[in-house]
Amino acid sequence: MSRDWEVVIGLEIHTQLATRSKIFSGASTAYGAAPNTQACLVDLGYPGVLPVLNEQVVRMATCFGLAVHAEIARRSVFARKNYFYPDLPKGYQISQYELPIVGRGELFIEDDDGNEKRIGITRAHLEEDAGKSIHEGLDGYSGIDLNRAGTPLLEIVSEPDLRSAKEAVSYMRKIHSIVRYLEISDGNMQEGSFRCDANVSVRPRGQKELGTRAELKNLNSFRFVEKAINFEVERQIEILEDGGTVMQETLLYDSDKDETRPMRSKEEANDYRYFPDPDLLPVEIDDAYIEAVRASLPEMPDAKKLRFMKEYELKIEDAAILTASRALADYFESAALAGGGSAQAVANWVIGDLTGALNKEGLDIERSPVSAAQLAGLVQRIDDNTLSGKLAKEVFDGMWAGEGTADEIIAARGLRQISDSSAIEAVVDRVIQANPTQVAEFRAGKDKLIGFFVGQVMKETGGKANPGVVNKMLLDKLSG
Ligand code: ADP
Ligand code: MG
Repeated sequence: MSRDWEVVIGLEIHTQLATRSKIFSGASTAYGAAPNTQACLVDLGYPGVLPVLNEQVVRMATCFGLAVHAEIARRSVFARKNYFYPDLPKGYQISQYELPIVGRGELFIEDDDGNEKRIGITRAHLEEDAGKSIHEGLDGYSGIDLNRAGTPLLEIVSEPDLRSAKEAVSYMRKIHSIVRYLEISDGNMQEGSFRCDANVSVRPRGQKELGTRAELKNLNSFRFVEKAINFEVERQIEILEDGGTVMQETLLYDSDKDETRPMRSKEEANDYRYFPDPDLLPVEIDDAYIEAVRASLPEMPDAKKLRFMKEYELKIEDAAILTASRALADYFESAALAGGGSAQAVANWVIGDLTGALNKEGLDIERSPVSAAQLAGLVQRIDDNTLSGKLAKEVFDGMWAGEGTADEIIAARGLRQISDSSAIEAVVDRVIQANPTQVAEFRAGKDKLIGFFVGQVMKETGGKANPGVVNKMLLDKLSG
């Protein structure tokens, strides 16, 4: 990318709230049901029916607002956003416009240079999702599935503070981690429970005014967000460098072709004729309510990261990885507390071998076949020298395969490391005696041969001799 252009991005993230019923009706929000089996008269937009606000969404939005240090509106108002689309039978979406429940807030990400950077949150408002049009498998017709209609969404709008596709992704990951910590959304991106629109513009570096933006709709993976923004930035720079102007428009990202293409020209807010919904009362909440919600909040990722660095003396990178998800953090912490072994060693195993094995099998940490207590038992046996690094991996594989605790596997497979020096000495002496030529060469300066001797000792002990002890003893005897 050319150095003369500065990239400016603001995200609108739609996160589906994890309520059991819809935002204004009692229909279920469960994903994957047969079309139109979870849409009641309210969701179908029948005339004369009345919406009733689901109290849980107010609590969830308040949780989110407090977690990003935002102002919580004591009074917020639902508005009608009017437009026509087949998946919106009422002809309007109920949203919040002038008075959203969550006002200005902030969070911190790592920027491209690894420094902490503040990203402003403009607002977060509650709204209902629309239904879905279905075009596949209907023999030339389109179908409408209204199961999703009325599903509660929290739309989180950022300030145009992001300066690269990578920053946009770290911001989105941060929001994802926050809503998952709060357990207000399952964050499932494949099912569309967490998706975003990216507003992208460029401007000559140093210019104050923002450039004209394009809005990339409905990006539902971190990878697509990054690729779509990068594509769009290149496209805009090319237009501007050719002397053209960027149009304000709404674009769709095609992940198969890795390109953006026009969807429609951008509508203005007044096209929607927003007005307060006369069917719904304003939402009024008081300080006592807000304080009760605050008291219920779990420890958030940033606080947990700092605590892990302090209490377990973890490196900042490791603490960041482990606290990105609450489940992973809980796993690490229960292993570290159960251990008696070193917490950093536990962290290394969780981040390294365990995460590797989970990724390979496509499993979440919640489904790990190796429990936190088992992993703690393994690290303990490394710390007390029962296991070498190599044997530990073998024990880990055994635990993964369901063979039991570290101690059970060590006993069953006979994996105890030999650290007893008299036992090792006998083998070392035998190896030295059996290889006079190599001994002479080593003493004449061929240092590399130490590997050969260590290898011989390991072979004789079936890989169980403590490598540190073997090395030292060989060096002593060979140079002596
Ligand atoms: P709308 O609701 O029409 O999409 P908003 O003004 O509420 O528009 O802005 C939506 C998002 O676009 C916000 O995240 C904001 O930060 C971002 N944004 C606004 N102007 C620009 C711009 N020139 N370049 C990049 N992002 C922008
Ligand atoms: Mg928008």
